[in-house]
Amino acid sequence: MRTIGLIGGMSWESTAVYYRRLNEQVRHSRGGLHSADIVMRSVDFDAIVRLQTRGAWDEAAEVLSGIARSLERAGAACLLICTNTMHKLADQVQSAVRVPLLHIADVTAQAVKGGGVKRPLLLATRYTMEEDFYVDRLRQRHALSPIIPEAPDRAAVHNIIFDELCRGIVRGGSRERYLDIIARGRAAGADGVILGCTEIGLLIGPGHLDLPVFDSTLLHADAAVAFAMEGGTA
Ligand code: GLU
Repeated sequence: MRTIGLIGGMSWESTAVYYRRLNEQVRHSRGGLHSADIVMRSVDFDAIVRLQTRGAWDEAAEVLSGIARSLERAGAACLLICTNTMHKLADQVQSAVRVPLLHIADVTAQAVKGGGVKRPLLLATRYTMEEDFYVDRLRQRHALSPIIPEAPDRAAVHNIIFDELCRGIVRGGSRERYLDIIARGRAAGADGVILGCTEIGLLIGPGHLDLPVFDSTLLHADAAVAFAMEGGTA
């Protein structure tokens, strides 16, 4: 089994979900006392958010690239950036290492297509919903037609992520707000929902919706387990 490298802590609330999912999936597949072989660096998220809000993306790329190199040196056979937003820097991080970076948008898009969904509603941070790096990848590499919420709904989705979910706060009222936004997305033609931020699965899941739901966190973790298992049973 190959070693999985995690660039985590963005936020740690979702990295904890990754950690559990990776280990559960390996146990499910191997049984007994088997668990995932992981190296992880978990950052101080406050420092990263400051770089995001200042627009200091080159500096953030340096930070993540340095972590990627250290995980590669520590034996990682693949890398996961455990946040959709920071995939804005995926190309820079990938160019810093030789091992593959498993891109969260690619993994999620494969599942969306596999589910027969073509017009998924994208719920994510403002960066992920409004900039090109994620939406264009869904469009151009995967021939999907993502639906992006209107501006007031984007603001609500973004603020609930940073003000609540990344702080471990899960509110029923915020779940209702998300469900309203999803209902509007459906009325606009959405045939599925991408949870395109790694904390959203803490708030909503398939049990709340009668549309296909694609949780980027779980899909990303599962792709890493599949990669690790390709390395054989040793
Ligand atoms: N975890 C979130 C994501 O998947 C947001 C945190 C961040 O800005 O990195 O986009």
